[in-house]
Amino acid sequence: MTNAPPPPTTAAQSARTILTRLHEVMASRTNAQGKLNQVVGIIGECLHSEVCSIYLLRDGALELYATRGLKQEAVHVTRLALGEGLVGTIAQQIETLNLDEAAAHPDFSYRPETGEELFHSFAGVPIIRREQAVGVLCVQHSDPRRYEEIEIETLQTVAMVLSELIANADLIDTAARAHAAEADQTSQRLTGQKLVDGMGEGVAVFHQPRVTIEHTMAEDIEAERHRVYAAFDKMREQIDRMASQAEFGIGGEHEEVLETYKMFAYDEGWSRRINEAIDSGLTAEAAIERVQQRTRMRMRQIDDPLLRDRMHDLEDLSNRLIRIVSGQMGTAAQLGLRHDSILIARNLGPAELLEYDRRRLKGVVLEEGSLTAHVIIVARAMGVPVLGRVRDVRTSIREGDLLLLDASAGALHVRPTPAVQEAFDAKLELSQKRRANLAVLRDLPAVTKDGVPIELMINAGLREDVAALDLTGARGIGLFRTEFQFLVSATLPQRERQQRLYRDVLDAAGDRPVIFRTVDIGGDKALPYMTVDDEALEENPAMGWRALRLALEREGLLKVQARALIEAAAGRTLNVMFPMVSEPWEYEAARQLFVGQRAWLASRGKKLPAAIRYGAMLEVPGLVETLDLMLPHLDFLSIGTNDLTQFLFAADRAHPRLAERYDWLSPIVMRYIARVVKLVSGTKVALGVCGEMGGRPLEAMALLGVGIERLSITPAGVAPVKAMIRSLDLAALRTDMPAILARPSSDPRGQYRAWAKANGVDLGD
Ligand code: PEP
Ligand code: MG
Repeated sequence: MTNAPPPPTTAAQSARTILTRLHEVMASRTNAQGKLNQVVGIIGECLHSEVCSIYLLRDGALELYATRGLKQEAVHVTRLALGEGLVGTIAQQIETLNLDEAAAHPDFSYRPETGEELFHSFAGVPIIRREQAVGVLCVQHSDPRRYEEIEIETLQTVAMVLSELIANADLIDTAARAHAAEADQTSQRLTGQKLVDGMGEGVAVFHQPRVTIEHTMAEDIEAERHRVYAAFDKMREQIDRMASQAEFGIGGEHEEVLETYKMFAYDEGWSRRINEAIDSGLTAEAAIERVQQRTRMRMRQIDDPLLRDRMHDLEDLSNRLIRIVSGQMGTAAQLGLRHDSILIARNLGPAELLEYDRRRLKGVVLEEGSLTAHVIIVARAMGVPVLGRVRDVRTSIREGDLLLLDASAGALHVRPTPAVQEAFDAKLELSQKRRANLAVLRDLPAVTKDGVPIELMINAGLREDVAALDLTGARGIGLFRTEFQFLVSATLPQRERQQRLYRDVLDAAGDRPVIFRTVDIGGDKALPYMTVDDEALEENPAMGWRALRLALEREGLLKVQARALIEAAAGRTLNVMFPMVSEPWEYEAARQLFVGQRAWLASRGKKLPAAIRYGAMLEVPGLVETLDLMLPHLDFLSIGTNDLTQFLFAADRAHPRLAERYDWLSPIVMRYIARVVKLVSGTKVALGVCGEMGGRPLEAMALLGVGIERLSITPAGVAPVKAMIRSLDLAALRTDMPAILARPSSDPRGQYRAWAKANGVDLGD
């Protein structure tokens, strides 16, 4: 080393000295090239480095833009491809190199025009913009020595500021565009689990958009520190609130994730590192990003899937913190979709999904998700295909990328090649044709081949869903989830609003029956405006204070709903159903509440429904033990297989790891339902199934086999299920069913499939 090493100092102080001087350069009126020349001078001088160079990505290669110490003739002449030489490796891998003997590195590529043979040691860091390397900043020395950690940290901090400088100088435009163009060519196929069938095309939109950091250099360090403190406070508050709302589900965020969020949010080390980055002269946003970049680089070297998951959590939190600090808190829904879009999220709550413009939302891709989570039911109701449990979405996809979602094949094509696009279009056309063929079924009766009529109804929850009655030719609405209105509202819907919705739905349904289910909130259906007492907080919301349990205690809520329903159904038949009944007295209490409200309205001279029919949902398995006591008081009973199966298997319906573990066709479910059919038969009670299970041809076939003759299903399922019904010899199936249930195979799905195939049942595949 020709100069004496710098006196021991902290990385923050060292970076701050440089940043103070860079500040002047950036504020000056010099042109971009002049600024870069000054920058390499300052960095070289401050780090006592003989060489300091900046390479920027241009037309797909890294070009030497400015240097102190290498030959000036090499500027704009020396170019390295991505992955070529040390500089190309740093940009491609987005990693830091620190070498005492550059030439000894296997990637070293000697460029005689630079005169770099005089220098032995080498350290380089990537210049990053929107998570992509757009350049490289490096220093070299004639002495073979490694650079100190402090110096590397300083270089990394300076590289952040440089990314702003080159963006402002429009240098990054060419560089970033070239890089984007390069990356754009790499088409990719990601796979996941089909959660809602269908195909869609659109640009990638992240539910929580990333903030692009515009200002990296602090004007006032203390002010930046306060901004970060305030943001930390706010973030901790948000996380604590999410945890305390666990009773109502946690807005799609899984409990385990929430625990990790909490751990990071209160982690002293993390906030200290951000503080140190602020000390070095960065703005709050840049400091958070700087720490995140460093963590990202470190994690890239660790190949541990568990740690990678945690890394995602920290990444989420880091983004949240940047959004808070920059005041850009909106989700993509609040910003509005401008094109046909495919939404990308780790997970979503049902209310969050409902905020999106249905006309532009062409699909959803989730890193988590499971078949019967409410958000998936909502997506199904909206007719939006969903692919779940897709790994690496956030590293493989950039905002604005073109995506082709083929949920039926469990695939997502990212930046498709023309050939992939062509195949996709052909498949889409085919599925549209098939749908058109199925549409022919609309006016045909749902009767089995051997003449047994099956009642096919649809599940709904929004005013718009009623249109599906005409489109599908369904006989009515077998489950109207009234809580959807609560989920899409910013505040608790008042009685008038509820009444208006129910009346509209009844008007649109005409003489077709509608079964209104009273509010089923709680579980994974969170209402942000409904607060909870501390003592009611719980670890297990699906089995907690939800649905009828909550409604019976918040009597005011149920009374308002009862009145709205009774008044809306004036002069017609009102069908009302209670969710999550666990013991007969709960059903009785809810029914009495309706009876009371009816009497009250009568006493005030209001026009009443012609009749009120009462029903319960069978979702809690234990209820079957006292079903005989309840049956005389019931008009109808509907088996909610979504909740029922989660309780039968003791497996959280929203848990991503359990999503595929248990099968609806398992003898456990089928025998249970057969038992219920037996208990109900011979009574006047109408028995049906309204869970998602009934919307799939194979599952629906099995349900018919055990004696179910009423199904309420997702509208998209009506045509394929009707096709199955019309091709089924029900008597033959019922003859074989006892044997199937008595001696189930280890692959029940295969067993039912084989039966369907042998008996010519149309399963649509
Ligand atoms: C069910 O549990 O099967 C059901 C239909 O209700 P939800 O999915 O709304 O809980
Ligand atoms: Mg349910």
